[in-house]
Amino acid sequence: MKLLPTPEQAAALEATLRAANKAADLVSRIAFQQRCFRNFDLRKHTYEQVKATFGLAAQAAQHVIKKVCDAYRTLHANLAAGNLGKRGSARRIKAESTPISFRPGAAHPYDDRCLSWQHGDRTVSIWTTIGRLRGITFTGSAQQLALLAEHRKGESDLVWRDGMWFLHATVEVSDAPINAPDGFCGVDLGIANIATTSDGIRHSGKHLNAVRHRNRELRRRLQAKATKSAKRLLKRRRRKEARFAADVNHRIAKQIVTEAERTGQGIALEDLQGIRDRVRLRKPQRVTLHSWSFHQLGAFIAYKAARAGTAVIHVDPSYTSQQCSHCGHVDSCNRPDQETFICTSCGFAEHADVNAARNIASRGEAGWAVRHAA
Ligand SMILES: [Zn+2]
Repeated sequence: MKLLPTPEQAAALEATLRAANKAADLVSRIAFQQRCFRNFDLRKHTYEQVKATFGLAAQAAQHVIKKVCDAYRTLHANLAAGNLGKRGSARRIKAESTPISFRPGAAHPYDDRCLSWQHGDRTVSIWTTIGRLRGITFTGSAQQLALLAEHRKGESDLVWRDGMWFLHATVEVSDAPINAPDGFCGVDLGIANIATTSDGIRHSGKHLNAVRHRNRELRRRLQAKATKSAKRLLKRRRRKEARFAADVNHRIAKQIVTEAERTGQGIALEDLQGIRDRVRLRKPQRVTLHSWSFHQLGAFIAYKAARAGTAVIHVDPSYTSQQCSHCGHVDSCNRPDQETFICTSCGFAEHADVNAARNIASRGEAGWAVRHAA
């Protein structure tokens, strides 16, 4: 939800974030020095001090401590998973040898005691360091507002970004019961075509790839500049591109799920574990692939399908592009170029991505039958 605070309200929100993050910095330093990362223990060490030093209410102080604990838990999980490099690498040493610090404007979590929603007035009442602020207007799309009013649950994050204020609220929507599928629609993911269905619908990546290419050029120029303002612009561009890509993914996912719902089909998706290892491409395409979020598209399809009661199955994607969807013959010669599929055994010809999508569909059907044989 986007907040529309008055200038006075915005000033109070800003002061609150700054105080909360300063407090989080202090808690983080203490946690780091004492090697104490558990909420309960850390509260013993820091609670009174945080309340007294930063003028935070009891709830807010607890949130600060919890935020620090969560940040360390994430860091430790990342270290354990090797996401920050091998033991002894410069990046890892840096992450291990300094306490986590918080930007003055970093997001801050609010629970129901510190934040309440008045859906009728479309306002929130929120705790700040100068007291409770009432009547801050919020706005969102009609669909978001309906979801929020009906399904909001748990904590919300107060986010300050590019001079705008947002509340990131969580909604919990229960899945619809899964309908028994009448056949499967296969979805092939790619670069030239982001998604192709076994019904022959292709979602072209042409526009998206052009935008990405343009952004990459712009980024290269900005990176060369390395000034502070260039860095800020770079960050903003990156966010903008991510929003654009997510929007494209949302649209494609919605179309695929709506079509499956209409026809009563289930949806078969490639199991994307290890897609980066599997796909061998020339370098320029590899960059596109890495930055393009297949996993996001898969996740969007999965959650939209769950809401609609549409069955989803993930299938082994190996050789789907080389196998003939008509006779099953597998041969790399079946695919003379990017777009064309011609079976060297039976002569069947089809657009290469549609052929792959059909293989995915029939694997989905087979997989579903095995799973539901009992
Ligand atoms: Zn064939």
